[in-house]
Amino acid sequence: MTPDPLALRKSLESRLPEMLAVLRRFTVAESPSTDKFAVERCARVIAAAWRRLHADVSLHPQKHRGPHIRVQWWSGSARPSGRLLVLGHYDTVYPAGSLRSMPFRVKGNKAYGPGVFDMKAGIVQALFALEALQRARALLRKRIVFIWTSDEEIGGETSRRLFESEAKKSDAVFVLEPSFGPKGLLKTARKGVGEAEIIVRGRASHAGLAPEEGVNAIHELALQISRLSKWNNPRRGITINADVVEGGSRVNVIADCARAFLDLRALRISDMRLLEARLRALRPILPGAKLEVRGGFNRPPLERKWSAALFLHAKSLAAQMNLALGECTAGGGSDGNLTAALGIPTLDGLGAVGHGAHSLGEHVLINTMPSRAALLAALLCSI
Ligand SMILES: [Zn+2]
Repeated sequence: MTPDPLALRKSLESRLPEMLAVLRRFTVAESPSTDKFAVERCARVIAAAWRRLHADVSLHPQKHRGPHIRVQWWSGSARPSGRLLVLGHYDTVYPAGSLRSMPFRVKGNKAYGPGVFDMKAGIVQALFALEALQRARALLRKRIVFIWTSDEEIGGETSRRLFESEAKKSDAVFVLEPSFGPKGLLKTARKGVGEAEIIVRGRASHAGLAPEEGVNAIHELALQISRLSKWNNPRRGITINADVVEGGSRVNVIADCARAFLDLRALRISDMRLLEARLRALRPILPGAKLEVRGGFNRPPLERKWSAALFLHAKSLAAQMNLALGECTAGGGSDGNLTAALGIPTLDGLGAVGHGAHSLGEHVLINTMPSRAALLAALLCSI
């Protein structure tokens, strides 16, 4: 049986007090990515909540990080035909003890606390989505796998293999990263993100006695930066920014070294490749200067074509719940970029509605939590 989306929304609206109680429990278990002990404790709290739903929960321990949590559930007695992956992270950017300056609290329609928006409320919504499906005795066609990673905020070094191999077996991926703005827009496209470094070597010389013997690495770097700043094309979603520069030693010595760290972003895979090729093709401008370019994109763009069909479906489910659902393009990447790059349909930004991720004022709009949970539940039982 497939539950009616509006009925799912109504049943979840009555669960808001319990959702907030669980959000409090998840938030007061602080989980700064680099604090293995704290993250392990938080993992136990989250795993216990899923075990209460009789889901199959396993923890994947990591040497230097907390464990990744994998939850699996299916309802039918027959073999499931396919798999859906729900993806997110439970680590936060806030150091241990942040609760003292930003305690978990509910004020009016907002719940505050470290990581509530990015993205513990998303995990709570997924938990109650599954609970609502169980209560409605929904028979799911597909196996559902939830993966909550412990290191997303520090680059996802240990989780990438796990969720990529799970994504490859899945028909669709739902990413519970925060939505955008007070209307909770889904992120149907995300820029690809990269970092590059330009290293210039020149030749030192006395700036007064023998300037002709020097090759100024800072001048060379400045020329290169002015060249690559022209590659910016905001209309196509291409940005390249030198955000850190360093070089030289003393003011009367011609600089023999300089370097710049670049932030790279592109909305299309073709533009990402073009940008990387142009960087590799840079050649010195000043005679005698040497140039080296390192790095490149580490997350390819999530192109809208991988989200379009899922978004249309989500929008029609939302309409059946009397909800309006919009979409936007995000300038930052998520693990959804990586699953889409594998060719798996991916819908991102399905998590909490709120504001202020990674800041003291981080909060979620609590009246949206039941409907967002209902939307996920409706997606999971209709695909
Ligand atoms: Zn996040």
